[in-house]
Amino acid sequence: MKQRHYDLIVIGGGSGGLAAAETAARLGKSVALIEAGEIGGTCVNNGCVPKKIMWYAANLAHAVDDAGSFGIESWRGRTDWGKLVRERERYIDNINDYWTAYVDGLAIDHIQGHGSFVNASTVAVGDDHYSANHIVIATGGQPVVPPVPGAGLGITSDGFFELQQQPRRVAVIGGGYIGVELAGVLRALGTAVTLFAMEDALLERFDPMIGEVLTVEMQKQDIDVKTGFLVVALDRDDRGITVHSIDGASVDGFDTVIWAVGRRGNTSALNLEAAGLEAMPGGIIGVDAYENTAVPGIYAIGDVTGKASLTPVAIAAGRKLGKRLFGSDSRAKVDYHNIPSVVFSHPPVATLGLSEAEARLRYGDRDVTVYESRFKPMRYALSAHAATTAMKLVCAGHREQVVGIHLVGDGADEMLQGFAVAVKMGATKADFDSTIAIHPTSAEELVTMKVAEPDRPIADNLDEATVWREAS
Ligand SMILES: Cc1cc2nc3c(=O)[nH]c(=O)nc-3n(C[C@H](O)[C@H](O)[C@H](O)COP(=O)(O)OP(=O)(O)OC[C@H]3O[C@@H](n4cnc5c(N)ncnc54)[C@H](O)[C@@H]3O)c2cc1C
Repeated sequence: MKQRHYDLIVIGGGSGGLAAAETAARLGKSVALIEAGEIGGTCVNNGCVPKKIMWYAANLAHAVDDAGSFGIESWRGRTDWGKLVRERERYIDNINDYWTAYVDGLAIDHIQGHGSFVNASTVAVGDDHYSANHIVIATGGQPVVPPVPGAGLGITSDGFFELQQQPRRVAVIGGGYIGVELAGVLRALGTAVTLFAMEDALLERFDPMIGEVLTVEMQKQDIDVKTGFLVVALDRDDRGITVHSIDGASVDGFDTVIWAVGRRGNTSALNLEAAGLEAMPGGIIGVDAYENTAVPGIYAIGDVTGKASLTPVAIAAGRKLGKRLFGSDSRAKVDYHNIPSVVFSHPPVATLGLSEAEARLRYGDRDVTVYESRFKPMRYALSAHAATTAMKLVCAGHREQVVGIHLVGDGADEMLQGFAVAVKMGATKADFDSTIAIHPTSAEELVTMKVAEPDRPIADNLDEATVWREAS
């Protein structure tokens, strides 16, 4: 049995764990990083990275479909799914190799295996025991499969990334961001897709404008969107898998069913009780603003805390915690306000801050001004089929400080980052207006929103975009 003492043990080598380990090692501390799977965690292996590769493939497919509108002869051949997956995995292997070498280069002890607590300062991996002054839990999350009859006939997003052959007809269950992303990719690559959401709208946690526009765009792509459909069972017959709703409705004939109904914290194998900790519902570990758990010397960061489950958030939490514990900034902590995020749907969604309803609740109707714009981007000027872009600015107070930005449309994913800086700095509508637009782009709409009539139809070009102001 091996035994060793460190300044810091990190359990989980994903986005957050790597950031904490790296920060401490750079500050000269002895660090052990315990990882059960591949270094890089969910983002690299089963999340952002493979997802974005698939999204690029889907975007290219859409572009090929549309190239003829610009006089470029083109036709869609078969998708070589095997090649796409092989190339994607090769790219991911390179990232894994990079991180493994990087961790070694920082003299971090990379311990392969499952970590579980022996007591509040000791973690076991197999027969070996490692102790530390500080322990960070960064074990991330895993997809939830609901306990309904036949649930095992479905796969999850992890299983999606393992598919070696393109499925022919897929049911994606879940109207959240992972559900709409996978549905969009599969459809663009030629699979028939039905998207089942138990809510009445897609992306229900976002400003309603987003789900409304995205649903129409997905339907235009021949995705069968079924909202208000609570799946209570799956079964299989000769024709494939059937999805059953609580109302008795059913849809059959699927060769693949993907559960995308949420994630839970990876805590069940950690033996938290031995450390004096208890997980909350959903496998979440409760932490304060400084990522302290209830037990001194034990911290949790990233998805396992149930805070904003995004890679950059986990990285920021790991870095801030490392600086707080071992650097000169004893008050370092993440600011969880105004976190921008993107859904890589087709078209993509980008959102930041308060929805219109949240703003009205917080500031009161009289103090909220909303600017909304819907238009056909110039990108589709020559196309028979166009995807609408919709934008909403939510402003509060007499200065009209921008407290929410909600975008759906081509380019939204790359548009929001810069505006997020402005919002974090307290930008007002007047600041947006006084910024010279970049023309011709879709982004210029965000700095040219003006008063207009509410019911004008969707404009044909940027300059005639429908824009209205709702002042109450
Ligand atoms: C399909 C999908 C798409 C996503 N797309 C995006 C996106 O576009 N943008 C974005 O910002 N975020 C995205 N995310 C979310 C993002 O992946 C997570 O927020 C991020 O990975 C969280 O990092 P983490 O460090 O908390 O956990 P993880 O990255 O999940 O890392 C946790 C690590 O801990 C390991 N582990 C667990 N238990 C133990 C144990 N007992 N002992 C040792 N090791 C253990 C796991 O093997 C894993 O490697 C996506 C997620 C999914 C599932």
